Amino acid sequence: MRFYQQPFPIAVAPKWKTGGPSFYYLVVTMSENCLFCKIIKGEIPSKKIYEDDDVFAFYDIAPQAPVHFLVVPKRHIATIMDMMPEDCELVGKMLYRAQIIAKELGIEESGARFVFNCKADAGQTVFHIHQHVLGGQVMGWPPFPAK
Ligand code: 5GP
Ligand code: ZN
Repeated sequence: MRFYQQPFPIAVAPKWKTGGPSFYYLVVTMSENCLFCKIIKGEIPSKKIYEDDDVFAFYDIAPQAPVHFLVVPKRHIATIMDMMPEDCELVGKMLYRAQIIAKELGIEESGARFVFNCKADAGQTVFHIHQHVLGGQVMGWPPFPAK
């Protein structure tokens, strides 16, 4: 059951979720206010690369590499930790589309980083899962130590 990913008022949230809802909980359940849901619906403009029934891809507004785009599912899933077994095919479609677009953008041979940030420690800022694809330059590993 996916109830915790659906938009619902806190008043009708499941009891196990209402014993002191965290700020994080309030953010992740508010898909009606989700930035990427609004981009998918066209309510907020984006530089769209690709769209089908399941997946939407667009350029990141603040690119961190010469090539930096995002692939998102049209279905609102807040974080990778919220993935359910029935999401496996959808996430596979995201990864498949990401590599097709990466090839179209000329980074097949040089390679790319395919990244999901998840929750606070990874620096997730938009709580609708999104795959970053970064390429066009050599990148270090491990990535981005906290400052
Ligand atoms: P996160 O930090 O959650 O892994 O990644 C969120 C990404 O969304 C960031 O790289 C950020 O630049 C991008 N982003 C935030 N707001 C917008 C927006 O309005 N449009 C686009 N295209 N990207 C956005
Ligand atoms: Zn969303």
